[in-house]
Amino acid sequence: MTRDQPPDAAAENFYIHPGLERHAERRHDDAWLAERLRDPSTRLVPVWRAKNLIAGPREAPRPALPSAAGDWWRRLSRQEAFMGIADGVAYVAIDVGGVAAPEDEPALAGHGTFVDLRTTGPLMPRGDGALLAYARGLLWWHQRHRFCGVCGHTTESHEAGHRRTCGNADCGTLHFPRTDPAVIVLVHDGDRCLLGRQRIWPPGMHSVLAGFLEPGESLEMAVAREIKEEVGIEVADIRYQSSQPWPFPQSLMVGFTARATTTEIFFGDDELEDAGWYSRADLRASPEDESFRLPRRDSIARRLVDEWLAADG
Ligand SMILES: [Zn+2]
Repeated sequence: MTRDQPPDAAAENFYIHPGLERHAERRHDDAWLAERLRDPSTRLVPVWRAKNLIAGPREAPRPALPSAAGDWWRRLSRQEAFMGIADGVAYVAIDVGGVAAPEDEPALAGHGTFVDLRTTGPLMPRGDGALLAYARGLLWWHQRHRFCGVCGHTTESHEAGHRRTCGNADCGTLHFPRTDPAVIVLVHDGDRCLLGRQRIWPPGMHSVLAGFLEPGESLEMAVAREIKEEVGIEVADIRYQSSQPWPFPQSLMVGFTARATTTEIFFGDDELEDAGWYSRADLRASPEDESFRLPRRDSIARRLVDEWLAADG
């Protein structure tokens, strides 16, 4: 599977928008941006304290994307960020986290309710989930970079919400939205793969192993180190599979497969409550309940498992 994957394999993952053009060249064009904010076709993507505005029934949620026309939203927004254009429609993320109770604010409550994307994401078309994930991730970064990490002065938003600049003229440090890479790895040994479980996960959930990259490491080094640290297993044939933005709050998951060269499990750190080898038959027979369930369907972990199952024989 991994050898024959198409170059756009990442487009199959959740939280990647297939058609959003970011138009970075427009981020300096204040007149053009002001025009977008007056255009009735422009859609706002409101975020309240890392939750997205959601409409529709619980089983089929969809993003609530009010029109930017009129100035109704300006008194509610503490940060705007131009996201891009898809199918001729411009999208602008707005942070309404300063509103104490959005359910009591008719201009917001009239469109929907604020919900954590981790609840609604798997139930949405991928483009919709991607739009909300992007807005959530970018505005989360703004809220946590209001002060300069170098001198402590306040920072200001520039480039249509894609850069912050320290307001202290003697410092002037530029701050850019950050993404923390993490490796996520399906380790295989013939017809078995390695799944583990953390205490904090939903009951029964088992998944492939993952961990953050450390300074001075390549992705492949991080793969080998994480597997060794968590379960004491050595790996070879480390192969890239695809990547997935995971803005909960600001990660990029970089997916790999790796072949185990040792198979005995030793728990090296406290991260896992359990880990074991599972055959394809085990996973196909997963009861999907509190005794055992596969990773959530919007995750790259699930895609790694699904592709490994499909690569049978
Ligand atoms: Zn500074």
